[in-house]
Amino acid sequence: MKAALFLGPEQMEIREIPTPKAEKGEVVIKVKACAICGTDLRTYRSGHKKVKPPQVIGHEIAGIICEVGEGVSNISAGEPVTVVTSVGCGKCRLCRAGRENICAKAEALGYFYPGGFAEYIKIPAESVAQNTIIKLPASISFEEGAVVEPLSCALNAQTFLNIQQGDRAVVFGAGPIGLMHLELARAKGATETFLIDINSERLANSARVVKIDHLINSAEKDPVREVMDLTNGEGADVIITANPAKITHELALKMAAIRGRISLFGGLPKDDSVINFDSNIVHYRELGVFGAFASARPEYEEALSLIASGQVDARKFVTHKLPLEKITEGLNLVKEGKALKVVILP
Ligand SMILES: [Zn+2]
Ligand SMILES: [Zn+2]
Repeated sequence: MKAALFLGPEQMEIREIPTPKAEKGEVVIKVKACAICGTDLRTYRSGHKKVKPPQVIGHEIAGIICEVGEGVSNISAGEPVTVVTSVGCGKCRLCRAGRENICAKAEALGYFYPGGFAEYIKIPAESVAQNTIIKLPASISFEEGAVVEPLSCALNAQTFLNIQQGDRAVVFGAGPIGLMHLELARAKGATETFLIDINSERLANSARVVKIDHLINSAEKDPVREVMDLTNGEGADVIITANPAKITHELALKMAAIRGRISLFGGLPKDDSVINFDSNIVHYRELGVFGAFASARPEYEEALSLIASGQVDARKFVTHKLPLEKITEGLNLVKEGKALKVVILP
């Protein structure tokens, strides 16, 4: 089969490699669409500790079941599916509760296991046993199916935030995930939304994709003062950092309303992740500060039902569709901020 092989930083090559076979407990999926994630770009540019080259990366996958190994039930060839990225140990308390994304021993498709930038992907037996393969409703296209994974990650973060009718929601970062967060916040009842970024062009483009009440360029204006001014000095009820800049974690605390909820969604560089945190703000204002990492089956199902019911239009986040051969071009579009979701069609 044809696969895009990651060979090391800035090295990606289309090669013929053996097509995977479904052994006992395994499933092979014919990949119809695989979207480029921000972490795929990071891996491509500087490598990733879980990715040993040569490796096929890509984890935002939609496809058709092609081959089912011995002992696998409830899944048959020909079904359109997506699949949960995280593969837990299957034994610990978190895995038994269906939270394999936060299993201490979790691995992932497109990192430790080969991923979706190829014609076929093998789903390992550990993953299949964890019930990670999810059928796509007939009304959902493969491109939409490929953005279920990022939507599910945003949903996982928002489960902690308890967004209510009338909430004011701030998102830092005008990337695809930031816009998905805004869309979901509105679907959950937020009535006033704010997007903060340092790039005016990206802000203006974002407002063409999702409904945003206030665009704030934090390179030009103090975002804390702006949010305070726009909320009668009350601040925001919900703040989500969808970027890797640690200053935004500090700003988030300062613009939170009383009983505000903050999601530190974007991970920070591993050697630069210590922030200034005034815990008295959290204490006196009764703030909630949450993390979120990846997602598990319940969020995939919720994302699918939001798309299928039309509450979330996933298609508007897909700005580019490219064949596998153009994956490097796709990665560069993401790097230059010229794309939201780039979907590779192997
Ligand atoms: Zn992703
Ligand atoms: Zn586990």
